[in-house]
Amino acid sequence: MRFRLTESPMNTGTQMARYIFITGGVVSSLGKGLASAALGALLQARGYTVRLRKLDPYLNVDPGTMSPFEHGEVFVTDDGAETDLDLGHYERFTGVHARQTDSISSGRIYSNVLEKERRGDYLGKTIQVIPHVTNEIKDFLRIGQDEVDFMLCEIGGTVGDIEGLPFFESIRQFIHERPRGQSILMHLTLLPYLAASGELKTKPTQHSVKELQSIGLAPDVLVCRSEHPIPEREIEKIALFCNVRKESVVPAYDLKTIYEAPLAYHRAGLDQAVLDAFGISPAPKPNLARWEDVMDRLTHPEGVVRVAIVGKYTQLEDAYKSIAEALTHGGMANRTKVKAEWIDAEIFEREDPAPYLENFHAILVPGGFGERGTEGKIKAAQFAREKKIPYLGICLGMQMAVIESARHLGGMGNAGSEEFDQESGEKRFTPVVYHLKEWVQGNHTVTRKTTDAKGGTMRLGAYTAVLKEGSKVAQVYGTTTIEERHRHRYEVDIRYRDKLEACGLIFSGMSPDGKLPEIVEVKNHPWFIGVQFHPELKSKPFAPHPLFADFVRAAMEQERLV
Ligand code: GLN
Repeated sequence: MRFRLTESPMNTGTQMARYIFITGGVVSSLGKGLASAALGALLQARGYTVRLRKLDPYLNVDPGTMSPFEHGEVFVTDDGAETDLDLGHYERFTGVHARQTDSISSGRIYSNVLEKERRGDYLGKTIQVIPHVTNEIKDFLRIGQDEVDFMLCEIGGTVGDIEGLPFFESIRQFIHERPRGQSILMHLTLLPYLAASGELKTKPTQHSVKELQSIGLAPDVLVCRSEHPIPEREIEKIALFCNVRKESVVPAYDLKTIYEAPLAYHRAGLDQAVLDAFGISPAPKPNLARWEDVMDRLTHPEGVVRVAIVGKYTQLEDAYKSIAEALTHGGMANRTKVKAEWIDAEIFEREDPAPYLENFHAILVPGGFGERGTEGKIKAAQFAREKKIPYLGICLGMQMAVIESARHLGGMGNAGSEEFDQESGEKRFTPVVYHLKEWVQGNHTVTRKTTDAKGGTMRLGAYTAVLKEGSKVAQVYGTTTIEERHRHRYEVDIRYRDKLEACGLIFSGMSPDGKLPEIVEVKNHPWFIGVQFHPELKSKPFAPHPLFADFVRAAMEQERLV
């Protein structure tokens, strides 16, 4: 079932996407990203094609150099962009792979404008926010406008933020310049609850809509987050004061799981309100089978496994957002609940890991940067290898597993990563993991210098790996050619391959030119796999990543625990 908008009764003869702008008011962290992703999924369920975009008002050029504590995980796209973690939600809900052009920040916009100014592109004119910055934003909005039925653009932050103003002004102009009825605005707000009087308050919502109106924007759909049921009379009041139709005031209550969002928003009437706002009538009926199955798997698990995640940024779950989600998906594939527990790797530098790790069905060591905590990660890998507990090492987690084998099986007591020597300025380790400065991407060679700016020195985005016939990973993937996303500077040195293979490692995945180890396995172990890439970025609730699905399956087979 697929309806192109051009086939709908409201066909205007144009092939251009309809735009939905998603803004937030009252407070931040209302779940705008999730609401946008869920709406994208619902439009797909009605047969439309969608693309989701994030416009971030901050001045960083991209989140690549921001600390995970600041910004949560950096989500990497196939084409190598380092983006906001909301793009991860978009992909997980729609399966549409994000691109470089789906994420933009004020920093990037200003940097483009200033670059053009230096090049003389503006022919000596005075450069101003309007029209130069706003034109740059509008050019960005138009990219790919003829490819999909709906383009959903989420604006980070809340209305009224100083940094956000050029984006809001650009949206105002953009809506005004397009044919009538081609763009709508969806605004998310919060209805605070006053326990003393037992009331939900609508005033902050009214104020944030006024704020929008003062810059020439009016919401077509209002999504109201609330911890309590919103009485009909309050919906009517919001509609009246905010100049939005009653049916377009959509309540959004707290959910047990984010994956309930598409069904919950559908029940609340969000997709209907959006299609009504565009005048699309009759709207194609939705097919929600995918989300019903997702919810069935999530809410009726037949067992539970416990997975230890031994990492550095354990206080902040958002730092490993995609890993947490991919584990949940892996559980869903097996109809099992995955309980992930985060353990600070540094603990194992002081204490024996056994009492911490022996109660887990599996151990995962995620990616990370810098030396802090790495000796603890090596201890975790050693414990998993020796005790035959399923181990999944991702990026740094793979590098630490290789160093562990080199030290304890290959007799290289001082095996380490060049990353740590570069950080400390001392020469302490034999670099089994070294700083990669040249590699092949498709049919060209990429070269990096240590003097390159921090943001630009990584191997980023999708690369092909060739898997060894008969290896565990080839069996897990069910193929011998895969494509996965990367984000790292250091790489396992191929020159140690023979030595490491002789003592029990298998290099089961390599770059197509055979130079870069992409996957290692431990021989005679039920499940020990390290991957140089980030499989978690491609997992979806309706299509769990095979590595995560099989990792959870292996965890379920751990009979030493009940
Ligand atoms: N710090 C390591 C590197 O740059 C690992 C990176 C990661 O885990 N994403 O190679």
